[in-house]
Amino acid sequence: MKNDIESAYITEGIHEECGVFGIYDFDGNDVASSIYYGLFALQHRGQESCGIAVSDTKGSGGKVKSIKGMGLVNEVFTPDSFEKLSGNIGVGHVRYSTAGGSTPENTQPLVLNYVKGTLALAHNGNLVNALELKDELAYTGAIFQTTIDSEVIAYLIARERLKAVSLEEAIRKTMEKLRGAYSLVIMSAKKLIGARDPFGFKPLCIGKKDNCYVLASESCALDGVDAEFIRDVEPGEVVMIDEEGIHSDTSLVQSKKAKCIFEYIYFARPDSHVDNVSVYNSRIMAGRLLAQIHPVEADLVVGVPDSGNAAAMGYSFESGIQYATAFVKNSYVGRTFIKPKQAMRESSVRIKLNVLTDVVKGKRVIMIDDSIVRGTTSERIVRMLKNAGATEVHVRISSPPFLYPCYFGTDVPSGDQLIAYNNTVEQIREIIGADSLGYLSVDRLSELIKGDEGYCDACFSGNYPIEPPKQDIRGEFER
Ligand code: SF4
Repeated sequence: MKNDIESAYITEGIHEECGVFGIYDFDGNDVASSIYYGLFALQHRGQESCGIAVSDTKGSGGKVKSIKGMGLVNEVFTPDSFEKLSGNIGVGHVRYSTAGGSTPENTQPLVLNYVKGTLALAHNGNLVNALELKDELAYTGAIFQTTIDSEVIAYLIARERLKAVSLEEAIRKTMEKLRGAYSLVIMSAKKLIGARDPFGFKPLCIGKKDNCYVLASESCALDGVDAEFIRDVEPGEVVMIDEEGIHSDTSLVQSKKAKCIFEYIYFARPDSHVDNVSVYNSRIMAGRLLAQIHPVEADLVVGVPDSGNAAAMGYSFESGIQYATAFVKNSYVGRTFIKPKQAMRESSVRIKLNVLTDVVKGKRVIMIDDSIVRGTTSERIVRMLKNAGATEVHVRISSPPFLYPCYFGTDVPSGDQLIAYNNTVEQIREIIGADSLGYLSVDRLSELIKGDEGYCDACFSGNYPIEPPKQDIRGEFER
């Protein structure tokens, strides 16, 4: 929430940081329009800025053309853009900033010219040792043009490449220095490379269409370009796509994984599969678990759009209580709008979300949402249901209470800004005006991903898979 512009999200502001996309067309066709469609499908992962960088593997040796800008994909790119972006290999990025400011110079893909050629890099995630790495580089003469940790990665790769026999080796050597979350898509003159940190915090998958290979944050972006899902990039794996095909380096794969559980609860699109799990099914399961853990007598189960809907359906399946649509979301509210004066605040939520009075009037309603951050939006939505005539509103949350910040690329804020940090569940229930309140419990989270134990739940449990940075660099990387 910056200056007088308010984000138009329905929930209170847990945002994913980024989405990445890459494509290599072996037949030599231009790929910019495919990247555009891929980024469209990933728009939910970042709405502040976006960019596309392309090159021609058969052309003059890696001249990269790029267009980047602040705004949504359909705001930054025009029909003319594609004429300027000719090339059969390319990467794209959508961004929401959690470290480094929201400024034009921080847009991605980053394009770097160095003695071995050109690199274009798109990154999803946050490093926890970015400041140390940046200081080390700065003391040996590096000059940074952005305030994002992704530039540190690009710089390290370029430096390692001077000593390494191949770009793959340079990337692997760089990965040995990085601590934190990163899913990367990197383009050199003749190669497209995908890499995922050894914990696998952020997703990355591989697809194929005709004679093209595709890399994307989520499988919904493969669907967006009609590509067939092949597999997820394994945590710690580096995949290289060049004129000889696809190769893999798994030398950094480790047994300990820490895939972000909040991808399934909220970030990822329900039509995506992440690490062999359907996001939709995991939300249905979250609703089923809530019905088992926090049953209540009621007439209707409703979801707060969008991610609450599948969980509400799961609650309905498990409890036998009727599922209904109670909210109409205004899909035409832009990314941002001018924050109204205090007196107008109430209607700002109503502009984004309105209640179907005919559905809830005189009914005991179970309302499912994905999370409560500060509590203000939940309080308004509960009040809207009651004003529309709901006789009882029972709130169920398809995640555990947020208690700790995230350092891995999600803007879960520090404890003092989290309602659950300073209040008991009963106090939160009272603050939001619900008749009852129940959260998913931390010990049931593995059931969302078929019992897989290799996930991160640190913002709920405080069990950080990697030691958090001594200094909270989120939003202050430009120190
Ligand atoms: S701390 Fe929370 S939001 Fe961050 S990676 Fe872990 S589960 Fe995801």
